[in-house]
Amino acid sequence: MNCSIRGAITADSNTREDILLNTRQLLKEMIELNEVKIENIVSILFTATKDLDAAYPAVAARELGIVDAALMCAQEMFVEGSLKMCIRVQMDVQTDKKQSEMRFVYLKNAEVLRPDKVKKQKKIAVAIDGPAGSGKSTLAKELAADFGFIYVDTGAMYRSIGYKCIDNGISTDDVKKVSELARNINMEICYIDGRQRIFVDGIDISDEIRTQQVADAASAVAKMQDVRKTLVKLQREIAKNNNVIMDGRDIGTNVLPDAEIKVYLDADVSERAKRRCGELAEKGIEHDFYKVLDEIMARDKQDKERRFNPLTVAEDAVIIDTTNMRASMVKDAVAELINEALL
Ligand code: C5P
Repeated sequence: MNCSIRGAITADSNTREDILLNTRQLLKEMIELNEVKIENIVSILFTATKDLDAAYPAVAARELGIVDAALMCAQEMFVEGSLKMCIRVQMDVQTDKKQSEMRFVYLKNAEVLRPDKVKKQKKIAVAIDGPAGSGKSTLAKELAADFGFIYVDTGAMYRSIGYKCIDNGISTDDVKKVSELARNINMEICYIDGRQRIFVDGIDISDEIRTQQVADAASAVAKMQDVRKTLVKLQREIAKNNNVIMDGRDIGTNVLPDAEIKVYLDADVSERAKRRCGELAEKGIEHDFYKVLDEIMARDKQDKERRFNPLTVAEDAVIIDTTNMRASMVKDAVAELINEALL
C-alpha cells in the first residue's frame, strides 16, 4: 500500500552546501527510521521557505541514489512568525506497513513543528584517537557517512596552521609568532557533499595540506598551548551542535572528555608505514619505505611526548589494534558501539 512520511529540518545558512547537507540528513533519517527501500519511494515533494533559494532540495535525493521517484520542489507561503530557513518533505512510499505506523522526522529547529512526533535522537559524539596511519580518517569518514554524522578531521586544522607558517615564512619554533598566527587565522570548516573542506583566509587548502612537509609542521605547531587552545575551542563548538565523529590525538582525553564512544586505534609502526607507502604509490609519488618509517616514528615521538595534550589512551577508550584487521572489520566493530549508544 501507499503511505506518506513527513519530515522537516532547518538549514543554518542559505547556501547550496547547507541546503543539500540538511536535506540529505533529513531524507536519510526518514528512510532509515521507516525501513524504506529506495526503489519503493514513489514520489517526494520538497518545500522550502522563501529565505532558502540557493539550491533545489531535490538534488539531495538524487545524490542519495533516489533516481526513479518523481521529485518536485515548491516554495512555501510566507506567514508572519513562521519558522525560518525550513525545508519540509513529504515522501510517498510503497510499504507493507500502515499509515499509522509511519514515523515522522522533525530535526533541528523544525522539532517545534510537531513536538508530538519528535522522537528525540540522542546526541552522540564519537572520539577516535591514535597515531598517524592507524586508519582513523578512513574509519571516521565511512562511519560519518553511514550514520549521517559530521566528520571532524582535527588534524586538518593543525595542518592548516603548519601550512600557513610555511607559506608566510614563519619558523615552527617561533612560539610567539605561531601563536599569534593561530589566534588571527581566519579558518572556516564547511561540509561539501558530506566532506570536510577547510578554508583559510577564504581559500580552500584542503588538498595542499596533505604533504609530508605540512604534516611535520603540523606536529611542530601542535606542541604549542595557545595553538591548541584556539583549535580545541573551534572543535568543541562544532560538537556542541552536531552528532560528530571526530578524529585526532586528544579527542577522548581533552576535546570531548564526555564523548559517548571513545576509540583508540593503533597498529604496528611498520604496518602504518606500509599503508602510507601504499597511499603514496597510489598517487604515483616516489617514496622510500625507511624514510617514511622514520618520519612516522618522529611524529609519534613528538605527539606522544609533548607537554600539552599528548597522544594517550583515554581511560574509558576501546583500544583496537588494526595491524591485522581489514578496514571493514574495524568499521563493523565501531558501528556496533554506535548502534548500542543510539538505543
Ligand atoms: O592526523 P594528522 O596526521 O592529519 O595530524 C597532523 C598532526 O596534527 C599530528 O601529527 C599531530 O601532531 C597534530 N594533531 C594534534 N591533535 C589533534 C589532531 C592532530 O596534535 N587532535
